Amino acid sequence: MPTLDTGDVLVKVDLCGICASDLAALNGDITDYSPPVVMGHELAGIVAESRHPNVTVGENVTVNPMLSCGNCDYCRADLDKYCSQIEGIGHDIDGGYAEYLRMPKHGIDTGKLISVPDRIPAEELIFLEPLGCCINAMRETIFDKSVAILGAGPIGLMFVKLANKAGLRAFVLEPLAHRRSAAIELGADAAFDSSPEQVEAFMDNTNGGVNTVISATVNNQRAINLAFAVVRRGGCINFFGLAPSDQELRINLEHFHYSGHRLMASWAFSRWSLREARRMIVDGTIDLKPLLTHRFPIEKAIEGFENAQQQRGVKSAMSGG
Ligand SMILES: [Zn+2]
Ligand SMILES: [Zn+2]
Repeated sequence: MPTLDTGDVLVKVDLCGICASDLAALNGDITDYSPPVVMGHELAGIVAESRHPNVTVGENVTVNPMLSCGNCDYCRADLDKYCSQIEGIGHDIDGGYAEYLRMPKHGIDTGKLISVPDRIPAEELIFLEPLGCCINAMRETIFDKSVAILGAGPIGLMFVKLANKAGLRAFVLEPLAHRRSAAIELGADAAFDSSPEQVEAFMDNTNGGVNTVISATVNNQRAINLAFAVVRRGGCINFFGLAPSDQELRINLEHFHYSGHRLMASWAFSRWSLREARRMIVDGTIDLKPLLTHRFPIEKAIEGFENAQQQRGVKSAMSGG
C-alpha cells in the first residue's frame, strides 16, 4: 500500500490498459524507464483517500502520466514531455499495474489528475491517454486527402476513427486478419496485409500511393521501407510508433530532396490533446469500448502481457483487483 504525504491522493485502480511501450520496455527495447518501477500509465480508478483540498474521495479519475515542473518554457508551451524534470507515472514513479496508486501533490497541483463523470466506465477511461496521443499526432501531421495507417492495433484503429472524422480516405496495412477486419468495421476504406502482392493491390487502389502515412507499429526496417513504398512524392510520413533502440533511419539525401517527403515523429500527448480526448469520451463523440477485447486479473499479469505481445484481439487490460 503506497503511503501518502500531505497533498497526495490514493487511487484505487480499477483497470489499466497494457501499452505497447510497456511491452517494448520489458523486451529491453526502449530506454525511457527507471526500474524498479510499477509500470502502467493508461489507468482508470476511484479516489480512495484524499489529502488534497481539491480532490474528493469517490471521484472517477485517470491521470496525465507526465508529471513535470509546470514552470519551464516547455511546460508553459504545453510541451511537458520535453521538461527536464519529467517524471512518468509507470515509467519513473509507480503506475497502474497495481491495486493502489499514489498520485503525488505536485501532479495534482499541475493538473495531472483528470476527473470524469461517474458514468464513464473504466473500459472507456483507460483509452483517454492513448487517444490523447493520437489526437496530438493528428494535429501535428500534414494531411491532404488520403492516409495509410501502418498497423491496426489499438492505436492504429484509433487513427482510423480520427481519420474518418477528419474526412480523409483511410487505408490500413496490417498483417493480422482479425485486426484488418476490425479496421474495416471501424470505417477504414480498405485494409491490406503487407505482402508484396497486397502492397501492389494497395498501390492500385490508391492510384499510386497516399498523401500521408502514419506508422502506428514498431518502426523496424520493414515498417520504414513500407512507409516509403506507399507514400506519394511530396507526402508526409509520421513515424508515430516506437522504434527498437538501435534502429536508424537512413535515407539518401539527394533522393529525399527531390522526393519532397515531409518526415516527422509525433510522440505522446499534450494537455490540450488530453482535454480533447476527455471531451470526446465524455460527450460520446467516440466509442472506444469495442477495442477492449481482453481483461486479466492482476494475479494473471504475465498472461496479460503475453496476450498483448501475441497481439490477440485488440486491447488487453489488467484489473486492479
Ligand atoms: Zn501508452
Ligand atoms: Zn517543465
